[in-house]
Amino acid sequence: MSGFAEVLAAWGEPAYRAEQARQAKLHGAAGWDEVTTLPKALRARLADEVPLWSVVPDARAESRDGTVKWRLRTHDGLAIEAVLIAHARGRRTLCVSSQAGCALGCRFCATGMMGPGRDLTVDEIADQAVLAHHEAGTQAARLANVVFMGMGEPLQNLDAVLGAAEVMHDPRAGVGLSARNIAVSTVGWVPGIARMAEFPLPIRLAVSLHAADDDTRDRIMPVNKRYPVANLLAACRRYSDTTGRRVFIEYLLLDGVNDGPADAKRLAGLLRDGRFHVNLIEYNPTAGPFRGSPPERRERFASALAASGIVASVRRSRGADIAAACGQLATRDAGG
Ligand code: SF4
Repeated sequence: MSGFAEVLAAWGEPAYRAEQARQAKLHGAAGWDEVTTLPKALRARLADEVPLWSVVPDARAESRDGTVKWRLRTHDGLAIEAVLIAHARGRRTLCVSSQAGCALGCRFCATGMMGPGRDLTVDEIADQAVLAHHEAGTQAARLANVVFMGMGEPLQNLDAVLGAAEVMHDPRAGVGLSARNIAVSTVGWVPGIARMAEFPLPIRLAVSLHAADDDTRDRIMPVNKRYPVANLLAACRRYSDTTGRRVFIEYLLLDGVNDGPADAKRLAGLLRDGRFHVNLIEYNPTAGPFRGSPPERRERFASALAASGIVASVRRSRGADIAAACGQLATRDAGG
């Protein structure tokens, strides 16, 4: 389905009409009758032709820590989720979905257990950011970052993901995020990494590595059989050399699976050359067989990396009480 900007252009309307509609969405307009900056006749015609929003919230949950999760419906009835994560000093990070479901089947991921869905469109992705921008405003906060870490593998839907990143960055479209504050996270879909390197906006690349050897990675992430660790890291190095930017390595700490001293040593050995920054992530249990590493193992792992000269941050989990944290984005509570 075309978005309203294409419909308005096809009708010969001036470009500022689409901008008026976008501004109204940023201020919370739910439907065309609330876009009062447009002439009444045009609103009526639009209402017959194209929805104002390409995704519509049908459930909302707010965590004790201020994190908000939405279940959103596409016009063909698919359920996706977006999570607005609360940080200190009024900053918010939005985690967006790029596919409804996912074909890659990572063993620790609730979305992977749902199986494949369809690729989302540019508008379906960008509208998640518009909704979040409005929500942040109502909390006297600011949408500061967008991460493509929700449902789906973004590099399998890269045209729409990059198109949506352009919309989120474009100040005329309203959200106006700095490109550096947009991060695309992949489990290692290698062909997409080269294309990311050619994209003109300096958006960031994050890679969910989660294991430093092929045996372990094969067991928890089937994508590794297609693109093993050495191929993946070679692609990351080419990306870093082309763009001059570091790659963020995401590492989920799974108790007894990938969090021992030998794992830390192997990981440090792989990432020695200064092109990487490591984020260690607390695991939030899904229906799968894994448990998060206990705090003492997490700390030991981070210290071992630091002793080998690897910079690592530990990322606290947010919104776990509403199943909003990484790997929990599934429609298990969708009720339909
Ligand atoms: S972690 Fe990402 S790529 Fe893996 S199954 Fe989940 S959504 Fe898909």
